Amino acid sequence: MAYRIHADDCIGCGACETVCPVTCISEIEGGIRLIDEDECISCGACAGECPVECISEV
Ligand code: SF4
Ligand code: SF4
Repeated sequence: MAYRIHADDCIGCGACETVCPVTCISEIEGGIRLIDEDECISCGACAGECPVECISEV
């Protein structure tokens, strides 16, 4: 189990990256964030912070 960012909707605010306890969210092109699903512990913190609700469990 992991969380995934829907890149088409991400506005690149960075809020998710700030709260991730295992620092598995990084910036890719244009400020859009990507979750390393192998490192994600599915805590849900990022999803709770995202202002456009573009992070969900997969
Ligand atoms: S669910 Fe938790 S561990 Fe996974 S990317 Fe989000 S904040 Fe990080
Ligand atoms: S909190 Fe949401 S909109 Fe902001 S960078 Fe993360 S995924 Fe993108």
